[in-house]
Amino acid sequence: AEEMMIRSEKMSVAGQLAAGIAHEIRNPLTSIKGFLQLMQAGVEGKEAYHKIMTEEIEKIEAITTELLFISKPMTDEKTMVDVKSMIEDVVVLLQTQASLYGITISVNSFSNKEIYCDRSQIKQVLINLIKNAIEAMEDNGYIWVDVSYTYATCAIKVIDEGPGIPHQMIEKLKEPFFTTKKNGTGLGLMICNQIIENHQGVLNISGNKDKGSTFEIILPIM
Ligand code: ADP
Ligand code: MG
Repeated sequence: AEEMMIRSEKMSVAGQLAAGIAHEIRNPLTSIKGFLQLMQAGVEGKEAYHKIMTEEIEKIEAITTELLFISKPMTDEKTMVDVKSMIEDVVVLLQTQASLYGITISVNSFSNKEIYCDRSQIKQVLINLIKNAIEAMEDNGYIWVDVSYTYATCAIKVIDEGPGIPHQMIEKLKEPFFTTKKNGTGLGLMICNQIIENHQGVLNISGNKDKGSTFEIILPIM
């Protein structure tokens, strides 16, 4: 009976996710359909309709892209990964985008180590966290990436100067489809959390004392 309980609980998580997906995709579809009907009826304002419909289609595109990532079997290609080169890859990738908003990504100086992980998955986590940091910030400022170790773990912090996170919201961030952004999918942090759990690590989220927030991943070195 206990086993059945566990199974039905798992089912309901999948069911919840499916319901969320259906909802998130149906809304923009309904809106697109509405605008198509207006256009067919020959109502003025086609330019504006095009713009909104394109945005709605982009929303569906973003959701399906992230869902494809989730549904990809976890390849689990863990190898010994050079931390410094992995961080450099991510920063090079995102600094151009950050620069458009006058944001500088600053990495602390840390001693290099190798950790046992799936390089592309951990890169994906760091990309999601730094993208969120960029999106959270007004123009100008710093995002700090801070790497440190204990004897058995590697901690990577992404610290931003954005508005921070209300305490009561922190629990919700890892849930699928929780977003406060107009064009957000609310899937980024859920994916991060899933990847980190798959590495027997932890994702800690906290608001900073003065301003901004800190997202910290802690991974076992081996
Ligand atoms: P999305 O970015 O599509 O909204 P995420 O799962 O990546 O989805 O993030 C969920 C929500 O968490 C965001 O909409 C935002 O409200 C909040 N959030 C994430 N990162 C930060 C951050 N660095 N500062 C403030 N809020 C954040
Ligand atoms: Mg995001």
